[in-house]
Amino acid sequence: MKEIVVISGKGGTGKTSITASFAKLGAEEIVVADCDVDAADMHLVMSPEVIHTEDYYSGFVAKIDENKCTQCGACIDTCQFDAISPEFNINQYKCEGCSYCSEICPTHAIKMQELCIGQYFISKSRMNNYLIHAKLGIGADNTGKLVAMVKKEARKIAEANNLNTILVDGSPGIGCPVLSSLTGANLVCIVTESSLSGFHDLQRVYEVAKRFKLKACCIINKHDLNTKLTKQIEDYLEKEGIIHLANLPYMANFSDAMVEGKTIVEKENTIHSQLIKDSWQKIKEIVV
Ligand code: SF4
Ligand code: SF4
Repeated sequence: MKEIVVISGKGGTGKTSITASFAKLGAEEIVVADCDVDAADMHLVMSPEVIHTEDYYSGFVAKIDENKCTQCGACIDTCQFDAISPEFNINQYKCEGCSYCSEICPTHAIKMQELCIGQYFISKSRMNNYLIHAKLGIGADNTGKLVAMVKKEARKIAEANNLNTILVDGSPGIGCPVLSSLTGANLVCIVTESSLSGFHDLQRVYEVAKRFKLKACCIINKHDLNTKLTKQIEDYLEKEGIIHLANLPYMANFSDAMVEGKTIVEKENTIHSQLIKDSWQKIKEIVV
C-alpha cells in the first residue's frame, strides 16, 4: 500500500486545489482521504455521494439519571470544571469526562457515556474514486484520533477494492492531526508559496516530516511573486534532499476552479494544469 500525504503547514498555499487535482488524475486507481478534518473541503470539488455514515465517538461525558437523583448537590461541589448547573444539567462542552461525580454520587445516578464528536463518511466521488471524509461536531477536539480513523477506513476500502494508492489531504499545522496524517505515509508532498511565512512553514513542517524519515517532495506555488525568496527555497530543498516537483506561477484566479466545483487540471491548456499533471506523474514514479 502506498500513501501520499499532501501538507502545507499553513492555509492559503493552494494545497487543497492541488490535492483535488491529484485526486482527479488518480481517478478510480486511488482512494482519497480528507484528513483536513477541521476544515474539510475536498468534498466541495469532489461532489461525493455518501454510501456509508458512521458516528465517531471519543471521550466520555457524564449523564445524570433524574429518576435516581436526590438533588443533594454533591456532584456540583465535586466538579472542578463547573460542568454541572444548579439545575443538575451537564454542560457537555465543559465536562472533561473525569468521572469523579459518578464515583461520589450517593445514589449512583451518574453514568459516563461515550461522546459522539462527529461523523465520518465513505463516499464515491464524481472522479470515480472513494473519498473518506469527516465532520467534527461543534467544540469537538481529538482531531488527531479522527484523522487516524479516516486513514484507517481509507486503507480498509483500498484493500477491499484491490487498490494500492491512498492520497491524503493532510491536516494543517504541525500538531497532533498532522502527525496522524503522516503516520504510515510513504511520501509527503509539501505545497509552499514564495513568501516569508510560506518558507518558514515549509521548514517547520519538514522538520516534522523528517521525524518520520519520509521521502519528501515540494511544489512552490506563486514562485514568481518573489524570485529571490524562491531561489532560497530551492536551495533549501536541495540542501535537505527534498525533490522539487514544480514551480507554479501566480494566478489571480487560482481558486476559481474550486469555486466552480472543478479542479485545476479540468481547466485544460493552462500552464498550471500541465505542471500539476507533470507533478502527479513524478509522484507516481517516486512511490512505485
Ligand atoms: S450527586 Fe447524585 S444525587 Fe447528588 S445531585 Fe448529583 S446526581 Fe443527584
Ligand atoms: S465527569 Fe468530571 S468534569 Fe464531567 S461533570 Fe463529572 S466531575 Fe465534572
